Amino acid sequence: MPLEPSGIFIGLGSNLGLGSKAPRDILLDALDLLLQNGDRVTTLSSFWSTKAWPPNRGKPDYLNAICRIETADEDPLALLQRCQVIEARMNRIRSLNDRWANRTLDLDIVDYNGIVSVNCSVITLPHPRIAERDFVLLPLLEIAPDWRHPVSGTLGRVLLQQLRESGNLNDCVRLD
Ligand code: ADP
Ligand code: MG
Repeated sequence: MPLEPSGIFIGLGSNLGLGSKAPRDILLDALDLLLQNGDRVTTLSSFWSTKAWPPNRGKPDYLNAICRIETADEDPLALLQRCQVIEARMNRIRSLNDRWANRTLDLDIVDYNGIVSVNCSVITLPHPRIAERDFVLLPLLEIAPDWRHPVSGTLGRVLLQQLRESGNLNDCVRLD
């Protein structure tokens, strides 16, 4: 029996405002723009606050969330391109020499129906750093408690427990 597809999950993050917009406004605008593109947001996690990486460098905290969407097409690359257009509209600037640069908006495709893409230079699915990121796992488990990693089949809650045991947390806390 085929496994039920796990769904399409997008991670949202922001630690920089834009004009009068705070990170919360930026994430809400991004959700709106997804919808305008025909990507129907069916579930949204709480907003979570996360310490920037690397720690103690004075970078503003991140606001993170995960949403589940339904797309009009079945094309992960087209979705990535739509996400990048939304990032650009929010003035996302990619720094070539700072992997951890502050950002107005980061949209990552965390999981696209369990598709596994290997050695693809443009898109990696599932997102390669899910298991290292409490700010992905916590909101993801909030909206999909039985989610499993598409490669290993490991339950997300087990990955979170392993992350906790490793001590590599980003102090991600749920906001009201
Ligand atoms: P990160 O999100 O890891 O901090 P970036 O947002 O700068 O870093 O993304 C770096 C590159 O990763 C982007 O140019 C994008 O093309 C690529 N990428 C590969 N797979 C994915 C994915 N699943 N979701 C989002 N971006 C991805
Ligand atoms: Mg990204």
